[in-house]
Amino acid sequence: MNKVVTLALLFLCSSFSFAQSEQLTIRAGLLIDGTGATSENVTIKVEDGIIQSIDNGAGPYDFDFSDKTVLPGLIDTHVHITAHFNSQGRYEPDPGQTPAQTLLYAAENAYVTLMAGFTTIQSVGRADDKDLRDAINRGILPGPHILTSLAPVNVNSGPPQRLREIVQQHHEDGADVIKMFASASIRDGGHQVMSDDQIEAVCVTANELGLRTVVHAYGTESIATVIEAGCTQIEHGNRYSDDIIELMSETGTYYDPHLGLLYANYFDNRGKFIGIGNYTEEGYAAMEEARSIGYETFKRTLELGKVKIVYGTDALAGAHGRNIEELIYRVTEGGQGIMEAIVSATSLAAESLRMDTEIGSVASGYNADIIAIDGNPLQDVTALRNVRFVMKDGSVHKNN
Ligand SMILES: [Zn+2]
Repeated sequence: MNKVVTLALLFLCSSFSFAQSEQLTIRAGLLIDGTGATSENVTIKVEDGIIQSIDNGAGPYDFDFSDKTVLPGLIDTHVHITAHFNSQGRYEPDPGQTPAQTLLYAAENAYVTLMAGFTTIQSVGRADDKDLRDAINRGILPGPHILTSLAPVNVNSGPPQRLREIVQQHHEDGADVIKMFASASIRDGGHQVMSDDQIEAVCVTANELGLRTVVHAYGTESIATVIEAGCTQIEHGNRYSDDIIELMSETGTYYDPHLGLLYANYFDNRGKFIGIGNYTEEGYAAMEEARSIGYETFKRTLELGKVKIVYGTDALAGAHGRNIEELIYRVTEGGQGIMEAIVSATSLAAESLRMDTEIGSVASGYNADIIAIDGNPLQDVTALRNVRFVMKDGSVHKNN
């Protein structure tokens, strides 16, 4: 069976067990609400895709998860939803690959991401993310809520005046966020490549338009420039001084580190990347070094500051649907508290997207984006791999 047919069957089998307008009840043995609080043996009422109430209401329940843990749908603030391996298993398009083929790979990625319990993602990004976002929003194709930067801006996008025009154009074209590469890839050293004036032009213009900015930046110099320019969120970070931790704590700049999944995925799939672009032996050596520096920096950040650390994975080919692994690395290798890590992937991630009155919490008035898992992740964080139930906007997409 080819992939398209398989995907179509999956859609038919898995979606819309219940229509949005029905009133539904979900019983939670343990509720982790996304804000850091828990409660036991509660009933969540959902109507018209919105959570109406949470109380001790008696059964019968439409979904009895008395033996499970219920959480808000998870949020990943940094993915590349179109990224995939080609028919030969390599990280590049097939010769003559059509835009339709690319989008079908993206639809598969969106599907496995939703099945893993991620009901909102931010893709940073390509112009055709928008077509997938809009298709999912039509309500038939299953996938997470998608926010997209469209194409990123980088040092070659032009001088400051041209960058202002590009940000304006992205705004008009329906971008949810602006993605900028202030520094080089870590495989090329990670140093600052955009001028201070270019960085400022992008973030000041975006702020004027009410658009957020997420900025690829490594190292003290780049990150200081990005924060001073008023950008919203730092991606990767990886290596910086204690002063940067203090600065991020003061300004409330969001920080999205990538500690484990990104590197594990590159190392596990080495043969699929090596020899393409900057995926060289030197590039891989730089990533090996960055992995250990990243953990040191992350532990220092937890210890010294009050930084708003949000959840993102940089998921690309090979990592879609495994988005939760980064959270497990953070806790087991990075030393972050389990509840803190869960909050970063729910209410704090929602705040970073300026959607904190809609998603990221199980509370009345919020979108009915709800998952249920086997086990208690506060006792064993790997329980988050066991997603049995996924509801998005009140529609059930998975119920095993
Ligand atoms: Zn990325």
